[in-house]
Amino acid sequence: MELIPLPVFSDNYIWLLHNHERALVVDPGEPTAVLAWLEEHGVVLDTILITHHHPDHTGGVDALRNATGAKVFGPLNEKMPEPLKRLGAGHTVEVLGLTFHVLEVPGHTAGHIAYYCEDIDGEPLVFCGDTLFSGGCGRLFEGTPAQMLKSLEQLSRLPDATRVCCTHEYTLSNLRFALAVEPDNMDLTQHTAHCKSLREQNLVTLPSSIGLEKRINPFLRTAQDTVARAARAHAGAASNDPVAVFAALREWKNRF
Ligand code: ZN
Ligand code: FE
Repeated sequence: MELIPLPVFSDNYIWLLHNHERALVVDPGEPTAVLAWLEEHGVVLDTILITHHHPDHTGGVDALRNATGAKVFGPLNEKMPEPLKRLGAGHTVEVLGLTFHVLEVPGHTAGHIAYYCEDIDGEPLVFCGDTLFSGGCGRLFEGTPAQMLKSLEQLSRLPDATRVCCTHEYTLSNLRFALAVEPDNMDLTQHTAHCKSLREQNLVTLPSSIGLEKRINPFLRTAQDTVARAARAHAGAASNDPVAVFAALREWKNRF
């Protein structure tokens, strides 16, 4: 299995996973990058997985379905490009001989889902859309801080080795904010230097891993003293309660 991020628009990735014969793609916001890749590599599109309803994640679905006949899966309760099979918490979907478990992770949108596979050539992987980003998390368009925190906690309980495939290259700007929250976090300083050098070479900073995100991502670290203290000092968190800390951090990031 090979995992490839296809860059589209200004900072989206369409993740493509293939076995040299058939492929799946996640959140195709447009069709041309996928069709060009399939043509160049002689690979057939088998399946399209959708995490949430935003156009930069769904805009290419109809064209790809029409061109390839690919199966389409998406969340239960969101406006979706029909026809498709809808999935919710506890459902599994078999693609390319792999089993993906569906997690409901509301917050960015009300019905956002993620797709987790525990074994792709021995390694776990999650397609998490706009819920978890490297060093950050999605904006709360349709959910509450408590919902989003619960969704992120669900993701952070996946094995540390889980590759985190998010849909946007927001890493450097997220890490700038993370350093404002935790200036003394050495893992964060080191990872920022690493990602800066990747971006200078126009390379992708993803996938990240759950283990790394737990060490560098303030939105997964709301229970840490350092993070709670910063949220109180700079963002008016009323207490050390993780939901209050999370809500204050998210507001701070929106203004940062
Ligand atoms: Zn989105
Ligand atoms: Fe997006």
